[in-house]
Amino acid sequence: MESIDILTLQEVPEELKMDFCPQTFDDYLGQKELKNKLAIYTQAAKMRNEPLDHLLLFGPPGLGKTTLSQIMAQIMNVGIKICSGPMMERTGDLVAILSGLEPRDILFIDEIHRMPTAVEEILYSAMEHFRVDVIIGQGAGAQSVNLPLNPFTLIGATTKSGMISAPLRSRFGITERIDFYKEEDLQKIILQSAQFLKITISDSSALIIAKCSRGTPRIAKKILRRIRDFAQVNNNNIADEQLVQDGLQFLGLDNDGLSKTDNALLKKIIINFNGGPVGLETLSSLIGEDKDTIEAVYEPFLLRKGFLEKTARGRQIPHKKLPYLKRKFLGQNSLLT
Ligand code: ADP
Repeated sequence: MESIDILTLQEVPEELKMDFCPQTFDDYLGQKELKNKLAIYTQAAKMRNEPLDHLLLFGPPGLGKTTLSQIMAQIMNVGIKICSGPMMERTGDLVAILSGLEPRDILFIDEIHRMPTAVEEILYSAMEHFRVDVIIGQGAGAQSVNLPLNPFTLIGATTKSGMISAPLRSRFGITERIDFYKEEDLQKIILQSAQFLKITISDSSALIIAKCSRGTPRIAKKILRRIRDFAQVNNNNIADEQLVQDGLQFLGLDNDGLSKTDNALLKKIIINFNGGPVGLETLSSLIGEDKDTIEAVYEPFLLRKGFLEKTARGRQIPHKKLPYLKRKFLGQNSLLT
């Protein structure tokens, strides 16, 4: 039977609505430096009654880029429209959104690096002059009309900093990076969410979940919602250490915080390539997971934990971790071979 992978499992929208979502910078835990900067920029723009400068946010998925943008909109008392780069297939899609914005509104575009070039080019004059050129009519009668827009703020989010074109990048007044969370911060996020979900959980149980959450609040909360199911059915809504350990095991997360796919990936490198190096394409076909998912979901954590390294010749297991992983996958006698 195909095992579930909590890391790539789609979130259930109904469930998300019932979970805690930070509404203020105080509720938004961790990321202190970034939060302080954004709080000042937001406050200053509000005092001047101007839109905030366009902001480019770099960082992996699930770290709270959308949430931060929603908090900023709330503080500035303006509307926010949320969309994603690949969603906008034609220039008309973007023009329709831009022309619907009220003064000082925020437009949040996730995965902005995946916008088609023609659509991206519309953004240039929209960001710089709050105007867009639109073609009205067809064939010989087609006319270009220069349409004014209300002043707005674009917040672009991207996981791939290298894929933002220079002309687009240069039009952002503020560029910030959002990093993976420390375990203590994730622990606080778990405790905050648990209180909202009415689960009894100790600091130590929350820390166990934090260690398996890959530095990512979205994953921490996803795991907590599943642990809640176990606690509700088996333990009177109490998530003690034993219940959390059992729950994590059920979800396919081991004591290193690795999922079944992480382990499959490392195991293939050890068994088929004696520790590597091996190309991403080969790995992708061996474990049946696409390259982008490996790069976005699995690799960042494995690299940070030192279980994997990238070299010019491919991915490999660092020498230091090889004995440990050989024992883990091949058993005690593996080091004799
Ligand atoms: P992104 O836009 O970076 O993919 P989201 O803003 O959608 O991430 O956040 C993912 C989930 O994590 C949401 O449920 C959000 O409420 C939660 N979250 C993110 N950052 C924090 C934080 N700093 N404190 C508390 N919850 C957070």
